[in-house]
Amino acid sequence: MTQFDIIVIGAGPAGCAAATWAAKQGRSVALVDKASFPRSKLCGGLFTERSRKYYRDIFGQDVDLSRAVTRTELSLFHDGQLLAELKDVPPLHLTMRLDLDATMFAHALAAGVEDFSGCAISKLTDTTVFFRDGRHIYAPILIGADGVNSVVAKQLFGAAFDVATIGFGLEIEAPPETQNPIEHPLRIDFAAAEWGYGWSFPKTASTTVGVGGLRAANPDMKAHLQHYLNTLGLSKDTLTIKGHHLPFGDFRARPGRANILLAGDAAGLVDPITGEGIAFALKSGQIAAQAACEALAADAPSTALKRYIFGLKELHKNLRIARILRRIIFAPLWQKALIGSFKRSGTVRTMYMRLLAGQVEYPEVALRVVGRIPHYLMNALRRTP
Ligand SMILES: Cc1cc2nc3c(=O)[nH]c(=O)nc-3n(C[C@H](O)[C@H](O)[C@H](O)COP(=O)(O)OP(=O)(O)OC[C@H]3O[C@@H](n4cnc5c(N)ncnc54)[C@H](O)[C@@H]3O)c2cc1C
Repeated sequence: MTQFDIIVIGAGPAGCAAATWAAKQGRSVALVDKASFPRSKLCGGLFTERSRKYYRDIFGQDVDLSRAVTRTELSLFHDGQLLAELKDVPPLHLTMRLDLDATMFAHALAAGVEDFSGCAISKLTDTTVFFRDGRHIYAPILIGADGVNSVVAKQLFGAAFDVATIGFGLEIEAPPETQNPIEHPLRIDFAAAEWGYGWSFPKTASTTVGVGGLRAANPDMKAHLQHYLNTLGLSKDTLTIKGHHLPFGDFRARPGRANILLAGDAAGLVDPITGEGIAFALKSGQIAAQAACEALAADAPSTALKRYIFGLKELHKNLRIARILRRIIFAPLWQKALIGSFKRSGTVRTMYMRLLAGQVEYPEVALRVVGRIPHYLMNALRRTP
């Protein structure tokens, strides 16, 4: 078969969600990925209850957490100093993307999606995908879910992302003999990178340790990782360091053009404060598929983008507020006051916990933070010599 209703390019969380949702509505869908599954993806693998809710809604079943580690406690550090040990945190699931993505890919195939994994693309037009092996497929609607280095975004806008605003992360997998996952807490370190943070996520077979933040603010991210590994007592000599860009809140207000839609990282949909991207990839994939199906039902594929932007309204609003809050949370002027609040205020800690776990949205967080600004300002002024 060469003709489909929808071609989805990229089979990560966004692509699998889009393909599955459209197939469940009776649409013929081709799911293209240059990789064959299972494949790994550089990621902390923190899967929140927000992601879990979207996953259930899209795939019609709960996520398999049998190989994941679920933690309800979290240690927060600043510059190597313990800030707080939080107990009874809403569940945080630590997954390996190798497993998670392969399962989502299997759900998509079970929904009737046609498998074009392991297929390298040679050329794209507005309706046709050409493969290096000489084959081609076409559809009135394309969904680009091909990650931060999206070829679909490049085709539309000339570049996949803006180097001035993109984030970047480095990670290693520490084997159990160097960092026994059972004995170590789930840990987040503020100030391990500028406008970002460090993380240590203990899993069943390894601990994922990383640092990430705005690329422009961290010209030497390797030095930050080295410093962080030293703090954790890990030697980088035996570990493989991997890096990947992260569209840290730099989302596209118009994610596509007419019949071509971008979802997930390709559309820049990552939380600019927590770095969470899986949930927004799933949700945007679902919304993109819904918009595509409605445009096809109206026999007007070129209206897909308009419908998609309308569907993304709430998600975009959240990320816009988060981008403003980031200027308060990560800016050096406020850092000390905020860290002080973390140490003293149970309310601030609970809010962060709920934010990380995906239990609270940014409009509510904004109201709380704005309410505390006079307090932060007084503290900042008190510290000014
Ligand atoms: C270091 C780091 C740590 C992170 N930690 C977390 C975390 O703990 N929790 C969290 O929620 N988020 C985290 N994120 C963000 C999260 O990984 C992404 O937001 C999420 O994977 C986006 O999903 P996606 O489907 O849009 O893209 P991806 O998961 O990147 O999937 C894109 C797919 O497209 C395919 N593809 C790419 N190019 C082509 C091409 N030319 N042709 C065909 N196929 C192509 C790829 O093979 C891949 O399968 C992290 C990111 C980084 C970089």
